[in-house]
Amino acid sequence: MTANVSFEFFPPNTPEGAVKLRATRATLAAAGPEFFSVTYGAGGATRDKTLATVLEIAAEGHAVAPHLSCIGATRASMRELLQLYRGHGIRRLVALRGDLPSGMVNHGEFRYASELVEFVRAETGDWFRIEVAAYPEMHPQAPSPRADLEALVRKVRAGADAAITQYFYNADAFLHFRDAAVAAGVTVPIVPGIMPITNYTQLARFSEACGAEIPRWIAVRLASFGDDRDAIRAFGTEVVGALCRRLVREGVPALHFYTLNQAQPSLALWQTACA
Ligand code: FAD
Repeated sequence: MTANVSFEFFPPNTPEGAVKLRATRATLAAAGPEFFSVTYGAGGATRDKTLATVLEIAAEGHAVAPHLSCIGATRASMRELLQLYRGHGIRRLVALRGDLPSGMVNHGEFRYASELVEFVRAETGDWFRIEVAAYPEMHPQAPSPRADLEALVRKVRAGADAAITQYFYNADAFLHFRDAAVAAGVTVPIVPGIMPITNYTQLARFSEACGAEIPRWIAVRLASFGDDRDAIRAFGTEVVGALCRRLVREGVPALHFYTLNQAQPSLALWQTACA
C-alpha cells in the first residue's frame, strides 16, 4: 500500500524562523513529498511572506502550492497574485475562502471559495492544479453536513482537482464523509489532513476554532500529562500514527501534514503510516 505525502508550512515571521524552516524542509524532503504548501493569512496579512517562502521553496527545486484565501480580496488583487505566481512557474494552488480577521469588516469581492476557484479557472485556464478544503466533521459555519458537502461539490464543479480535509482524529468521520462525497458525485481525490499532537493547549485552541473534535478519551489522556511534553508527543505519535496507518489501509491517495514548521512529528507519523 502506498500513498503520496505533502507537508504544509506557515510563512516564518523572523529570520530565525526562516532558518528553522529551511532545516525542516531539508528533513522532510527525504520523504519524497508530492509538494509542500504555504499558508496565507486571510485578508492578505501574509501575502508577501507567503510569496517569499513559496519562491524560496521553488528555487530549491520542490513542487510548492501557495494557499490563497479570497475573503477581503478584490478581483484585481487576486488577478495580480495569480499572474505573479504564474510568472514564477508555480503550478499548484490551495484555494480557500479564509476567515475575516477580527476588526476587518470588508468581505471583499468573493463570498465563497467556489467563486475563487471559478475565478482562477477563468483567468488562468488549466495552468494551476487547484486543491480546496473539505470538512469531514463539517465546517463550523455550515448549517448542516449536507449543505457543507454541497459547498464541496460546488468547488469541484468550479474546477478543483482535489480536496484536502480539515484535521480529524476519528477515522470513521473521514470514511463516512468520503462515502457521502462519492455518492454526491465528487470524483476528485480527497486527501486527509493530519495534525500531529505535540502541544495539548495549542491543539485544544485550534480545534475549538475550526470545529475539529478531539475525542474525549484522547483529551482526557492528554490533559493528564500536564506539562510532560515527551509523554504528550509519545502518546500523540501512537494515536495519530494508528490513524494514519488505518487511512493508508483504507486506500487514501495521500496524507497532507499540518507540520507547524516542525519536521520530526510529521516525519515520524509518515514513517509509521508506511511501515
Ligand atoms: P468555503 O468552501 O467557501 O466554505 C465556507 C463556508 O461557507 C462553509 O460553511 C460552507 O458550507 C459555506 N458555503 C460555501 N459555499 C456556499 C454557498 N454557495 N452558499 C451558502 N454557503 C456556502 N485559512 C487561512 O486563512 N489560510 C490558509 O492558508 C488556510 N489553509 C487551509 C488549508 C486547509 C487544507 C484547510 C482545510 C483549511 C485552511 N484554512 C486556511 C481555513 C479555511 O480558510 C477556513 O476553514 C474557512 O473558514 C473556510 O474556507 P473554505 O475555503 O473551506 O470556504
